[in-house]
Amino acid sequence: MLIDTPAFIISEATLKTNLNTLAQLRKHAGCKVLYAMKALPCSHVLEMAKSFVDGFSVSSLFEAQLARDVLGKAGEVHLTTPSLIAQELYELTTLCTHINFNSLSHHELYAPIAKTQTQIGLRVNPKLSFLSDNRFDPCRPYSKLGVDIDTLWQSNLLEKKEINGLHFHTVFSAHDFTPLLKTIEKLRRYFGHQLAQLEWINFGGGYLFQYIDNYQPFIDLVTTLRKELKLDIYIEPGNAVVGNAANLVASVIDCFESEGKNIVILDTSVNHHPEVFEYQRILDMDLHDNMGKYAAIIAGGTCLAGDIFGEYRLRQPLHIGDKVTFHNVGAYSLIKAHRFNGHNLPHIYAQTSEGELRLLKHYGYQDYQQQWLMPT
Ligand SMILES: *Cc1c(COP(=O)(O)O)cnc(C)c1O
Repeated sequence: MLIDTPAFIISEATLKTNLNTLAQLRKHAGCKVLYAMKALPCSHVLEMAKSFVDGFSVSSLFEAQLARDVLGKAGEVHLTTPSLIAQELYELTTLCTHINFNSLSHHELYAPIAKTQTQIGLRVNPKLSFLSDNRFDPCRPYSKLGVDIDTLWQSNLLEKKEINGLHFHTVFSAHDFTPLLKTIEKLRRYFGHQLAQLEWINFGGGYLFQYIDNYQPFIDLVTTLRKELKLDIYIEPGNAVVGNAANLVASVIDCFESEGKNIVILDTSVNHHPEVFEYQRILDMDLHDNMGKYAAIIAGGTCLAGDIFGEYRLRQPLHIGDKVTFHNVGAYSLIKAHRFNGHNLPHIYAQTSEGELRLLKHYGYQDYQQQWLMPT
């Protein structure tokens, strides 16, 4: 089928495989699963996910509203954010079933109001760093994310039964459960029997369940905690739901040499996946071949000199009109995409399990105009 590029293509088969994996884990471990919708809040994904999960986890009022648009009255909505504000609190309590406060000051200010409507949790910073890049590390020094575990211990909030649950989220793209086991061990060492005062613990996201072979350590951990402490365990994966479930297809719009290197300009750009630029991430590309004889700098079409996907090796030179596909771009790409330079957002397609492509949404000048044309 002919597709208009740039195209963001969501694979329904991969999405279902990921959701099934999580549903199996939910069944075997007895944990609850929330989709962290900030990774890709597209309603098509939310609609598909909702029958596999217990609800969605959100980071803002807009996400909570969209979650309810899709869920209706059913299902759980858990909010975790450092950006809670008084003016939004009431509405959030009508949308969310659980609110995790990021600090003791927010807990003190807002828990008395929120607790009549929702479950109250606290995000704890267990101060165990598992990431070398501190831009991603919620346990970095002077972290703004969560209550310092020592401070929480001193506050005595667990003993006083001032919270219903604890939340932590400390890893990013983890391929095994070691960080989780160490974190729980530390929480147990600090709080011991006080954990049994809680109704739930939320392990956050950050684990790439689709790439983990052995779930047994996770299943054993959850089973033990549920049995010994009589509480519910939540996980809230984002990347593990959508990360490998979308591709970005682009067309080559120019090819030329610059000081002896081949430059290939695409009709997409880092506008459509800002983390490529922000974190200098190299995406998997279908035509890349380590043994390829040709090298080309694959670049986006904006005015930014660093709007480059990277230098890839190819078997054959590319030509205007050729297509390239970047894989595994489901998470944190489209949601961060913008229209810098007046470039349109990608067309969004779903690829059905039968392989058919269906256009879900396309944007046009009207959308750009609506954003930037101010009332006179
Ligand atoms: C981002 C985030 C998630 C989801 O993380 P993934 O790496 O996409 O699994 C879950 N919980 C919280 C609090 C987050 O900030």
